Amino acid sequence: MNLRLSSIRLNLGVALGLALLTVPCLFGPRWLAVGTIALLILALVRSFALHNARRQRLVSMLDPVERAAAGETEVRLPPGADDEAGHVANAVNALLRTVREQAVAAHAERDLDLAMVRETPNGLLVTDAQGLVRRANPALSRLLPVRGDPVGKRPIDSIPVADFQEVIDEAKRTGAVCERALTHGKLDLVIRAMPTADGAGCLGVVLDITSLRAAERVRRDFVANVSHEIRTPITAIVGYVEALEGERGRVPEDLLFMLDAVRRNSDRLQLLIDDVLHLSRLESRQTDLELRRESIGPVIHAVIERFQGVARHKGLQLTGPDHRTAPEAWINADGLEHALSNLVDNAVKYTPTGSVRVEVTAMPGSVEIAVIDSGPGIDAAHHARIFERFYRVDTGRARSAGGTGLGLAIVKHLCSAMRTEVQLQSPEGGGSTFTLKLPA
Ligand code: ADP
Repeated sequence: MNLRLSSIRLNLGVALGLALLTVPCLFGPRWLAVGTIALLILALVRSFALHNARRQRLVSMLDPVERAAAGETEVRLPPGADDEAGHVANAVNALLRTVREQAVAAHAERDLDLAMVRETPNGLLVTDAQGLVRRANPALSRLLPVRGDPVGKRPIDSIPVADFQEVIDEAKRTGAVCERALTHGKLDLVIRAMPTADGAGCLGVVLDITSLRAAERVRRDFVANVSHEIRTPITAIVGYVEALEGERGRVPEDLLFMLDAVRRNSDRLQLLIDDVLHLSRLESRQTDLELRRESIGPVIHAVIERFQGVARHKGLQLTGPDHRTAPEAWINADGLEHALSNLVDNAVKYTPTGSVRVEVTAMPGSVEIAVIDSGPGIDAAHHARIFERFYRVDTGRARSAGGTGLGLAIVKHLCSAMRTEVQLQSPEGGGSTFTLKLPA
């Protein structure tokens, strides 16, 4: 703005000078004309000199500005006089100061991020849009075999672990987080891959869960050992109680209630020990249960038969499909029978009046088995935790019903061992439906 003003001023000065020159040349005496011309020439020379000096100053600013543009952050323009060029120099210096401060802050943040990436015990690797490694942290080579510098290569070219490359490819293809567990040497690892924020590349994370797995193993072994140790004395107690019951007539009348209490509680303890042992076996299994394609009819028939007596005793109607026409599915008969038994047992236990139905629906590629009761239902607030060990909706009622608190946890584990899932639906009005979807 100021530069333009000064050039306007210069042009106005020249025009005014020429106008002034015209008057004495045409109408005034000769000395006045000569004097005016001399003054005008003087003014013009001064004006050009000033203009030239400003131009020189602007040209001299070019070099530092170009150096700053090339990345030098310490460059400063010499502070100028209180003219246009001086103002520009001050403004550029202020801009350079701000840029430098921001660069220093960005560097500090980046150093912090780098330190975290360097020091984390988790292996990290980032690939670009071409699937080539851009960065990898030191922990990666402590967890996986990394040959040479992986940067610029496909992960598999320097990390010969097929699972790692596959998980990264899968995350790139699906755009979702992909995960896989694997054992490398003595290490239990989890590999997780996810698309980067810009969606072009992938971030691979390798987690070492060896100590976590070891702690889990210790806990499982402890539970299994304790359960085994308790089982022997419990079996002895139950045996003696049975013997006493056989001699009921010889037990004093007023002590019979004690005998019944011992019987009830030792039965419960035995059930609990059996469930704990079963769950611990399921948790420590290395492989899934073997599946065979066979009719689900005999399994359903056996379960209904087993609970028919209890249901009738409670006045409940327990019904199932015609087992002779039931469809075939990929099942592990023992596993399915155990899971369905737990579900029907619960349905009968927690339904005071009404009915319990087992329904089978054949669908393309799958068969659904639903255990439906007309009981109080399970509030949606409990659905997320209902399959956890010892989780109970109503502890008092569950205990008095004789439950161990492990029935649904066992169902969940059995289903995952049969590569399927169990789902719960419980509408507002009451009633619960547990559904298993089996591949057919
Ligand atoms: P429990 O041995 O106590 O029955 P489960 O793991 O089998 O343990 O069930 C967990 C809890 O879920 C039960 O205590 C009960 O509160 C609730 N539950 C399970 N099935 C039903 C059902 N069909 N109707 C109502 N509540 C149920």
